[in-house]
Amino acid sequence: MSRAYNFCAGPAALPTAVLERARDEITDWHGKGLSIMEMSHRSKEFVGVAAQAEQDLRDLLAVPANYKVLFMQGGASSQFSMIPMNLLRGGKKADYIVTGQWSKKAVGEAKRYADVHIAATTEGNNFTSVPAQHELNLSPDAAYVHYCPNETIGGVKFDYIPDVGDKVLVADYSSSILSEPIDVSKFGLIYAGAQKNIGPAGLCVVIVREDLLGDTLPGTPTMFDYKVCADNDSMYNTPPTYSWYLAGLVFQWLKAQGGVEAIGVVNNRKAAKLYDYIDNSDFYANPVVKNNRSIMNVPFTLRDAALDKTFLAESEAAGLLNLAGHRSVGGMRASIYNAVSEQAVDVLIGFMGDFAKRHG
Ligand code: PMP
Repeated sequence: MSRAYNFCAGPAALPTAVLERARDEITDWHGKGLSIMEMSHRSKEFVGVAAQAEQDLRDLLAVPANYKVLFMQGGASSQFSMIPMNLLRGGKKADYIVTGQWSKKAVGEAKRYADVHIAATTEGNNFTSVPAQHELNLSPDAAYVHYCPNETIGGVKFDYIPDVGDKVLVADYSSSILSEPIDVSKFGLIYAGAQKNIGPAGLCVVIVREDLLGDTLPGTPTMFDYKVCADNDSMYNTPPTYSWYLAGLVFQWLKAQGGVEAIGVVNNRKAAKLYDYIDNSDFYANPVVKNNRSIMNVPFTLRDAALDKTFLAESEAAGLLNLAGHRSVGGMRASIYNAVSEQAVDVLIGFMGDFAKRHG
């Protein structure tokens, strides 16, 4: 079987071993004579799969006992609304740190419900850095502070966790969850769309401190109420059972790789290689401030943008897929999530070198 090198930002590459296991189990799950997809979400078999996935995620991230882990739908984008609906808790104001397209989108949605205060924005430098702690202009009366630790489009990563005092810190970890260890206890809420480091699209994981549940804005839909979701073990309605099952397989795979600490070492090495190559080349460039470079999403430009199309055509022909930058910014982007091997990065660097030699 041949598998291409897939640098898609999401839905992203999944570990081959996970897909092979899913293939083996697809028509007959554990000798039951039916697929996990065809079982009731209330069956003891699926409830077991769901609970194991939650436990494995808790183990991987060392989630403290006073946090709920929710498996929700609607992607990370629905969280942009659920967060103000659930976390304003009688307050009006919310602080947002804006470091790219995704945190900006979160602001747009929050404005429908909250008095949004921009605590800092790096739009002035085209989202090529994150603000320093002392540049955060936090409001004394904000119900929470929202930020995006890893901006998927700009390839910008926070190199610190903002200190927000006794305020509730909320993080959109969609593109960097499980890429290296995080201290969950620093956050009131973490959310992540699944389709990068967790599993296929259709699922959004929310990790929320228990004391924040149960005080929603009037008019909040039942399905958007974290407490309803938590009280029903994320099965108030029919959950996306197959995505949940696959996420569970990915968690088991990640445990077998040594967990987030071990994969974090590999991820940092993969990213360092690629940035080193780019920095030492006069053909490619990355605009992000060094300490704020993402280890998951590496955008880069070619010296001559007229070569972009040729680069994409030739890379695709070489089995290196999905290297086009986000449609809003152009250029190139290599997303090198957990399931993208170090070998894939080596092959990419080799291709880039060869391309530069031929076209430089
Ligand atoms: N936040 C970030 C950081 C993302 O990268 C994305 C998707 N790429 C989203 C939010 C939106 O996720 P979804 O498509 O699951 O709504």
